[in-house]
Amino acid sequence: MALSVNLGFPRIGRDRELKRATEGYWAGKVSADELQAVCSRLRREQWEEQRKAGIELIPSNSFSLYDQVLDATAMVGAVPERYRWDGEQVDLDTYFAMARGAQREGLDVHAMEMTKWFDTNYHYIVPEFVPDQKFRMASTKPLDEFAEARELGITTRPVLVGPVSYLILGKPRETEAEPLESHLDSLVEVYAEVIGRLAAMGAEWVQLDEPCFVENRSAAEIAALERAYRRLAEVAGDTRLIVQTYFDHVGEAYATLTRLPVAAIGLDFVRGPENLALMREHGFPSDKHLVAGVVDGRNVWINDLSASLELLEDLQSMVSADQLMVGASCSLLHVPIEAGRETGLDTELKSWLAFASEKLAEIATLTRAVNEGREAVAGALATNQAALETRRTSDRTQSRHVRERMDALDVDTVSREVGFEQRRGVQREQLGLPALPTTVIGSFPQHPEVRVQRRKFLRDEVSRPDYDSFLEGEVRRAIKLQEEMGIDVPVHGEFERNDMVEYFGERMDGYAFTRFGWVQSFGSRYVKPPLLFGDVHRPEPMTVRWWEFAQSCTDRPIKGMLTGPVTMLQWSFVRDDQPRSETCFQLALAIRDEVQDLEAAGARVIQVDEPALREGLPLRSDGWNEYLRWAVAAFRVTTGGVRPETQIHTHMCYSEFNDFIEHIARMDADVLLIENARSDEELLEVFRDVDYGRDIGPGVYDIHSPRVPPIDELADMIRASMRVLPIDRLWVNPDCGLKTRKYDEVIPALENMVAAAHVVRAEAGVTA
Ligand code: GLN
Ligand code: ZN
Repeated sequence: MALSVNLGFPRIGRDRELKRATEGYWAGKVSADELQAVCSRLRREQWEEQRKAGIELIPSNSFSLYDQVLDATAMVGAVPERYRWDGEQVDLDTYFAMARGAQREGLDVHAMEMTKWFDTNYHYIVPEFVPDQKFRMASTKPLDEFAEARELGITTRPVLVGPVSYLILGKPRETEAEPLESHLDSLVEVYAEVIGRLAAMGAEWVQLDEPCFVENRSAAEIAALERAYRRLAEVAGDTRLIVQTYFDHVGEAYATLTRLPVAAIGLDFVRGPENLALMREHGFPSDKHLVAGVVDGRNVWINDLSASLELLEDLQSMVSADQLMVGASCSLLHVPIEAGRETGLDTELKSWLAFASEKLAEIATLTRAVNEGREAVAGALATNQAALETRRTSDRTQSRHVRERMDALDVDTVSREVGFEQRRGVQREQLGLPALPTTVIGSFPQHPEVRVQRRKFLRDEVSRPDYDSFLEGEVRRAIKLQEEMGIDVPVHGEFERNDMVEYFGERMDGYAFTRFGWVQSFGSRYVKPPLLFGDVHRPEPMTVRWWEFAQSCTDRPIKGMLTGPVTMLQWSFVRDDQPRSETCFQLALAIRDEVQDLEAAGARVIQVDEPALREGLPLRSDGWNEYLRWAVAAFRVTTGGVRPETQIHTHMCYSEFNDFIEHIARMDADVLLIENARSDEELLEVFRDVDYGRDIGPGVYDIHSPRVPPIDELADMIRASMRVLPIDRLWVNPDCGLKTRKYDEVIPALENMVAAAHVVRAEAGVTA
């Protein structure tokens, strides 16, 4: 018989109870006991829900107070020295100090680094290893949660971050040595102890996640898998080990993975359909279970149950039903909890959605169909077919108008009328800018009053005209400030926007919004990505009104501000019934309309932000070119229609762009404003080697910090840029938007930034 399996469930609670409890604890308003009580209750609800849904293999230790990688760090006692932990077990305050830094009696430490979990929007706490790193079991969390579930009469399968991935995900400090070479054996001993103790407690299964093996891995890294699991198999006894992968296919690691002395291998068939070909080519061992990830754990749409059953039938030509475990492609951590609760969505759209709860039901249905035949689940299959059919044929997912425009679009030929050098001359002349022109990235501080007014307006407590005049007051103030400071290309400040994706999504056809669709981004920070379910179209201008108002306040050229198509795509839950590239081009056309309208209204400078460009890169490098081809083309569709004298800016941040500056150049923006203040001139080095050939503004003011950088420091940064880039190519600007900062930080910082530009202009003898 095939078994139903779940890899993980959202931790946060239907009403975000975990957020309230942890933030309450940090604020000193919730005691440690109260916090633990909330967590216990959440775990119980989550386990019971899975059991009720018919899941046979239920995970434990997938719950976390902050992050599962940080949990692993606590489990193996890899607490960096600066947290001055010397206890037996990692206590709550040490744990949170690693996550968020701490400032209290005798301790003033910053947090450990945080970074994106593969290509998701979840962030994990990056482990740190010193040359003489010691490991010891310093948290019994996996044992405690296993016991806790058993008390409730639920047998669970403890889930751990696998030891090899744990080391690969970490970073060495004070050494160049690879953690895998230096630390694998001693780390594996701690895992052996944990597994040995779980075995003694009677755990039937233990799952070890090794997602790093869906990325390009070296032979040495793959060999480390073998070494680690040979040792763990020795202590496992009757406990059976599952090595789980997700987010792509396992490629060159397949042969080794299937040879490991473990009882089951987990593969993702949604993001890594190539796994099927790997199985065909190499076969699948008859002594192992296959955890078949067939329900998409990363997206919110209902499964095509009939297609999944065909896939499961295909698999059964290589594994018997007894070997099969049916599950989602990854932990359900990455989707919201329950679509059924979204009473604000119409029933048709709702029938297309499956959040975590609905996915559990899908897994149970598929498992039952494998075991008892399709007839046993005929009702569920019929409902599923009907919903898929309305989705396929609805004029909400298929707009004739959008389709015709798409057909007429030749994405590879869209480009500006004339080349950059020629454009640059006309732009400079008509904008009349000095050397080292100053600008900002878009948003001004969203101080509490902005949020209060927005909330009141949304609740109908403030009328549209009153809200608009409040916003106009904010815009006027931001522009007056920028004029006084001497910002050459000012902005309106984005006060009308709650979020750079949501604002535009709300103004396009094809988008819907949830009320409870929260997903953990990091720690207690959750996001509510919009749902892009249908053909995208922009019925009317989205920003022109605000640009016009702002321009009426000043003679300086106000920059129009838009979010680019790739970022809209990356930060939404995107329809899965057509290629992502197709959806991206629809977004590009919609934003192109806005670009043209801004230009027609008189905007001479228009910025199209693409901070998420890098995030969209596939995990395996063989997919990079394809992605970059359409992502870059989408940007060109958005911006390629303007006159030569209209200057296009773009902005990127949050990641390293060093390795694909050439692709950024192909976007053909006139000015690239890029995060740089924290990257130790690494970025600048790239411009020494690559001839970017367009204007560029490496950020000089780090907006992630409350600190006000002094004039000479900012001037130094500009001088550093001048060492690699010609002065007539350079702009002076902050790293990113100023939304999260306070006016009393931003005003002196921007004043210093402008002053620094003046200092350097004078030095270079280019004063306007
Ligand atoms: N224009 C946006 C802002 O300034 C850009 C934000 C971002 O890059 N994330 O807020
Ligand atoms: Zn940014």
